[in-house]
Amino acid sequence: MIGAGLAGLACADELQRAGRSVTVLEARNRPGGRVYTVRKGFVSGQHAEGGGEFIDTGHTVMRSYVQRFGLGLEDLRAEPDAHLDGVVYLGQRRRLSSAVFAGAVQTEIDRFWSRVAALAAPLDPLDPIAAGAKLDNHSAVWLLDSMRIEGTARTLLEHQLRDRFTVEAENLSLLFLCQSAKRDAKQPPAGVAALRIRGGNDQLPAALSHLIHDLRLVTPAQRIELRAGGVRVAVDGGEVVARFCVLAAPLPAVRTLIEFSPALPGPLGNAVAHVRYGVATKVMLQYSSRFWRRRGDSGRILTDLTFQTAWEATSGEAGSHGILTAYPTGRNGVLYAARFPTTRKLLAADEIDDVYPGSRVLFAHGEAAAWQNEAPSLGSIAAYAPGDVNLYWRALRRPYGRLFLAGEHTDSYSGTMEGAVRSGRRAAAAIGALL
Ligand SMILES: Cc1cc2nc3c(=O)[nH]c(=O)nc-3n(C[C@H](O)[C@H](O)[C@H](O)COP(=O)(O)OP(=O)(O)OC[C@H]3O[C@@H](n4cnc5c(N)ncnc54)[C@H](O)[C@@H]3O)c2cc1C
Repeated sequence: MIGAGLAGLACADELQRAGRSVTVLEARNRPGGRVYTVRKGFVSGQHAEGGGEFIDTGHTVMRSYVQRFGLGLEDLRAEPDAHLDGVVYLGQRRRLSSAVFAGAVQTEIDRFWSRVAALAAPLDPLDPIAAGAKLDNHSAVWLLDSMRIEGTARTLLEHQLRDRFTVEAENLSLLFLCQSAKRDAKQPPAGVAALRIRGGNDQLPAALSHLIHDLRLVTPAQRIELRAGGVRVAVDGGEVVARFCVLAAPLPAVRTLIEFSPALPGPLGNAVAHVRYGVATKVMLQYSSRFWRRRGDSGRILTDLTFQTAWEATSGEAGSHGILTAYPTGRNGVLYAARFPTTRKLLAADEIDDVYPGSRVLFAHGEAAAWQNEAPSLGSIAAYAPGDVNLYWRALRRPYGRLFLAGEHTDSYSGTMEGAVRSGRRAAAAIGALL
């Protein structure tokens, strides 16, 4: 197994439960990959999620793991501040979200999502190409243009798409957008991003990793040799020999860190080389007080400043301090990732001060996670560009001899923790069927 993110851990756990012996190789010094809860430096025992954060109510496999390990869930819908409004800060003007997402603007936004739902209706989320190949010729921007959506509605829709897929709308395949809409069609809107694991999402990969008998941290796979009778994986100063190999690492890391012998077959080799990932940086700022609540606001900010979006990470946590997570993605994510770590925090605190004048002096401590800059990920989540679904979707979802792929990028719940655990379980079942 290569990678101890949720996909690799779920796969290893399933195989072990079936009585198989598994070795998990992990490049980082911790399990969890893009699930990374930040506690260091924050006072009052508070924490924030540097990576995967929200679980939808419809993410049934994630919820079954949470239950299995006796973990609790924060339900954001039931929190005392759940009724509070967010703010929209565009063109240096602050307004309540409810006043902006209203009237003609909301009608235009609804019109866009209805059109996406209609285009998505015939799709099979497991195989969107079968009925939707033509949609992959277009981007999400093409749809916005062809529907003549302009002004504030256009700004807000492009913002929503950037937040969700971590790329600019012109780089997002319309087919990929419709696939995710179809996948989530039965998800009640109030259940989207409604849950977090109480005490930190990293407890789930931690619980899974404690069950794995042979987990080797700081052991990046460097070379994979695929032979008729088995697999040989080279690591620094040694090798691991196995009957099967599950590759559960993000593709940008695979293409830069791992050599294959023989070279991967054409379709898979091309997918590994070319599937694009988005860019996301999380900047977590702890303040000595929750100044937004004093104003009756939830802490949720949507803005045309470069920090783009923010929300309260600590809405379900005790203490008088509070953490706001700023979430620049796409072009804003690139801008933030290019800054020095200290500059990122100060920039975000300065920008938030534009929205909430006087907040800068309450800023106590900041942490940031810039996924673009980390060698074992080199990006946020798989974000198919126009044309890429047709070229690469199927190639990433089938086995190649003794090599199996797992990871969010191989699942219909792409870009989520749910997709990661589902993919790991699927890879384990496929191997189990061969044994
Ligand atoms: C900023 C951000 C916000 C997100 N928000 C959400 C959210 O709110 N809700 C949600 O559901 N999802 C969210 N996600 C997505 C979610 O975190 C991921 O989909 C999921 O965690 C991916 O799990 P994985 O196991 O597929 O990959 P990873 O977690 O990336 O695991 C892969 C592992 O492989 C390791 N690795 C890489 N190269 C090698 C090598 N050569 N040898 C050995 N090991 C290697 C890596 O270190 C890593 O541990 C977010 C992601 C990001 C980055």
